[in-house]
Amino acid sequence: MPSVAEILIPLALDSAYSYAVPAGLTLAVGDVVQIPLGPRETVGVVWGVRQSPGGSNLRPVTGRLDVPPLAGPLRELVDWLARYTLAPKGSALAMALRLPDEAAQGETVRIGVRASGRPPARPTAARLKVLGVAADGALRGKSALAKEAGVSLSVVDGLIDDGALEATALAPEPVALPPDPDHARVPLSEAQADAVRDLIAMMNPAPPPDDRPEPCLLNGAGQGEAPGLSAEGAHLAETHPIQERQAVAAAETHHKLTTGVGDETFRAPTILLEGVTGSGKTEVYFEAVADCVRRGRQALILMPEIALTAQFLDRFAERFGVRPATWHSGIGGKRRERIRAGVALGEIAVVVGARSALFLPFAHLGIVVVDEEHEAAYKQEDGVHYHARDMAVVRGRIENCPVVLASATPSIETRVNAERGRYRHIVLPERFGGRRLPDITALDMRSDKPERGSFIAPALVAAVRETVAAGDQALLFLNRRGYAPLTLCRACGHRYQCRNCSTWLVEHRFRKALVCHQCGYAERRPEACTECGTFDNLTPCGPGVERIAEEVTALFPDKRVIVLSSDFPGGAERLRAELQTVAEGGCDIVIGTQLVAKGHNFPHLTLVGVLDADIGLTSGDPRAAERTFQLLQQVTGRAGRGEKPGRALLQTFQPDHPVIAALLSGDAERFYEEEIAAREAAGLPPFGRLAALIVSAADRAVAEAHGQALARAAEPPEGVMVLGPAEAPLALVRGRYRFRLLVKTERSVDLQSYLRDWIARGPKVRGNVKVAIDVDPQSF
Ligand code: ADP
Ligand code: ZN
Repeated sequence: MPSVAEILIPLALDSAYSYAVPAGLTLAVGDVVQIPLGPRETVGVVWGVRQSPGGSNLRPVTGRLDVPPLAGPLRELVDWLARYTLAPKGSALAMALRLPDEAAQGETVRIGVRASGRPPARPTAARLKVLGVAADGALRGKSALAKEAGVSLSVVDGLIDDGALEATALAPEPVALPPDPDHARVPLSEAQADAVRDLIAMMNPAPPPDDRPEPCLLNGAGQGEAPGLSAEGAHLAETHPIQERQAVAAAETHHKLTTGVGDETFRAPTILLEGVTGSGKTEVYFEAVADCVRRGRQALILMPEIALTAQFLDRFAERFGVRPATWHSGIGGKRRERIRAGVALGEIAVVVGARSALFLPFAHLGIVVVDEEHEAAYKQEDGVHYHARDMAVVRGRIENCPVVLASATPSIETRVNAERGRYRHIVLPERFGGRRLPDITALDMRSDKPERGSFIAPALVAAVRETVAAGDQALLFLNRRGYAPLTLCRACGHRYQCRNCSTWLVEHRFRKALVCHQCGYAERRPEACTECGTFDNLTPCGPGVERIAEEVTALFPDKRVIVLSSDFPGGAERLRAELQTVAEGGCDIVIGTQLVAKGHNFPHLTLVGVLDADIGLTSGDPRAAERTFQLLQQVTGRAGRGEKPGRALLQTFQPDHPVIAALLSGDAERFYEEEIAAREAAGLPPFGRLAALIVSAADRAVAEAHGQALARAAEPPEGVMVLGPAEAPLALVRGRYRFRLLVKTERSVDLQSYLRDWIARGPKVRGNVKVAIDVDPQSF
């Protein structure tokens, strides 16, 4: 009987397509194949093979590609991802299947040069400089040599043509050398040592039977559910018992195969590593990574913003002797392929990466660390809407590998999972080295008014003055890029708005432009009002960091001021250098957006001033309180990490707001208790579930009509509420009008099946209408 292969294609297609397997070709699930699709050839992955009598009218598979097959755990992850997010399965596959692109084919040879001993024909000054550097006989890359000598590359080329330098092929640069788990072990504090011991005990098989996590309480007792799933993942397990059992069986087989560990009952846990800012969480999970490397297994460390991790990579190198391989979606060409191959062969032991690193084909994954697990940046908001922290937990389950979620300010979901025993919980309650957390004080802006035209209260100005006079550093935090968030004409009242989006244009004085932060649209800041034509009436309203910098420079003309935000001129490279300058104490006052709030270690910083602590509290988003608490806890936590104690001042109009009050009292537990109680009362996540459907179209009426037709087809059953369509908070983005439907369900409802059925019976998507589904939206 002829065989038929079900081929999944990495395009926005929902299911696999059937192809005939030509005689002489044997295919296995996971094989990467070439297939005809319409008039062209494309690539797909075998998702199933069956014998079928009627397969002869199908188009045949062209052939198998000579690349490693997509392994079982990754296929499993793709299935989970598609089922959970409702993204087309082909789109989910595209994340795991990044095939070599043109540039990656055929390794080019790196050339090294050194002095040949022959004199140059024309000994110019530039040439002599190069030969001076090359005189030590060392092999260097051409550009490295040119740079070191301070000449252009053409001088080096000239010397090669001349025979004064000889060129030799170099071995390809390794993407990562093996880390040494015992390179430089740091003496741990008692609290850290306890945490490491607990962590390693939890991570490895054969715990005593009474050391198991409590059964999950969220879904009622007795569901027999495995620990270690996120609230959402657990829900999925519950509603897909068959797939779940298959996943567990596959995971166990895989675990036995890769580890040789025969303990069938060991289920690797998810562990919340919670420790206040500066408590030394990194050193703790480094020991878990070292343990894993010693056992010959691989570690993945996920970071929310990989571009700014230079300091972290240095720290890793200090501990392990080498830098780890790094990964993000921008890594291209050969490097990407070398990392994928190294990971698949088990040659790369540790990867530090952004969320897309979750889809790397690790051979023996032994731990996944999600650093700053509460970060919103882990949620991908376009294409496949997935949360990398939740998918890390799912991957851990599939691979039976422990997942460590590290944070000073865990997400509410993770805290609830830890409290209910679904995750294990390790706490570092104090800062490392006996350092104190900063004292936090409110500056009530109703009484502590800044002077006219100023945005900094007198008490904060005085605190900055004191700090810099003592030779310490101050940070002024304002989460607003640019100079002013709104520009208005005082003569005619015109406000400058984006032509593609429902947003105000933000003035960027440095760029002399009005910029849309949503779509990037920019126009020159006009001299005269474009509406009424009068001069000198355009007024910037409100502050951004550039405007604060202007005020600070005027107040402290002889101090070194650095502004750090994501549109820093000079790009990521310059930004890294500036962060380094701040860390080394090479500036007095830092003005920054959320970019400086997180993760950085600035040992000279003793004062943090938050210019608008209320900024996020008024958004009406159910996560507003959580997000503001996390951000302010993180930013104030930058103070006092070095020798001297730190303090923080919060400019606020609502010092009695529960979030501000919790920050002032330093009582994080109170915040979590109140917020969790409020979520539970309102049936919000993780006690209920949410999904958003965003309907968009170039024509407003078309988008709205489609949203209304969807609402009519909603037919919500018991336990499901459908709200909208309402204009989305960003009603116009990149020329598309957006309407939003919100779905809120009780936990017992299978949200995914409900959504799938609803979309299926709903109106057909026509013209340029798009419907994006966001399960577990992070903000709305
Ligand atoms: P967290 O990630 O919890 O905010 P870090 O891991 O960055 O904290 O540690 C805070 C500071 O304490 C860092 O400067 C780190 O180098 C230092 N530190 C932590 N543990 C140790 C240790 N065992 N020995 C020496 N320094 C440590
Ligand atoms: Zn715009």
